Amino acid sequence: MPIRVTVWGENVHDQENDVVKGIYPNGMHNTIADFLRKDPEIICKTAILQQEEHGLTEEILEATDVLTWWGHCAHKQVVDEVVNRVQQRILQGMGLIVLHSGHFSKIFGKMLGTTCSLQWREAGETERVWVCNPGHPITKGIKRYFEVPQSEMYGEPFQVPTPEENIFISWFEGGEVFRSGLTYKRGNGKIFYFSPGHETYPIYHQEDIQMVITNAVKWCRPEGDNWFDKFDGKPTDPVIKIDIKGPRLHGDGQSGLR
Ligand code: ZN
Repeated sequence: MPIRVTVWGENVHDQENDVVKGIYPNGMHNTIADFLRKDPEIICKTAILQQEEHGLTEEILEATDVLTWWGHCAHKQVVDEVVNRVQQRILQGMGLIVLHSGHFSKIFGKMLGTTCSLQWREAGETERVWVCNPGHPITKGIKRYFEVPQSEMYGEPFQVPTPEENIFISWFEGGEVFRSGLTYKRGNGKIFYFSPGHETYPIYHQEDIQMVITNAVKWCRPEGDNWFDKFDGKPTDPVIKIDIKGPRLHGDGQSGLR
């Protein structure tokens, strides 16, 4: 079965900023989708903020195994109904790859529960991305490290929960370090955060970056069946018959609280 990917793009600076337009004339989402499509295991669609329901309807999300997310200046324009829908799909088993300034997206904050704030500097400095686990599927084909010739500095402290695994750590010319590749599991879904990708540099045209994101799509794909939340409020019958002991908050047949 192919992996069905939806590449979501905010598509604002891609339309309004001449530097970004020059690097990504068809929008960053199309550049990302184009390199993912080179992998025979992947089929790929795009969705953007400006579409109805931001291009993330129930039908599209149901037919998505892995969602990639790039946003920067319009996080607040993403409506909560769509964010909640994406969260439900992740909990069921859909993979999520959050890229670069998506650290402040509503969906990332909702899944992680912290502020996700960090240090930053836009100075076009070199970023050296070090592999922390050369045996992890996301680092397949990557040497000990690779360099992004011009990057935006993202630095610690990165206000995120302790990850399941720290896959990459980046060093910047100006001296800072940053946990630039992190994995999480939420419900039945896998999440990967990958920080390189500032829009005024041609980072998504770089081969190593493309390899990491392609590997991450394969790692994030759902395993097994979806996990649906079937909570209906009713008390569960015991597997083995028991007598009711002690006082109860709820009467017979009364629903639980949520
Ligand atoms: Zn940036």
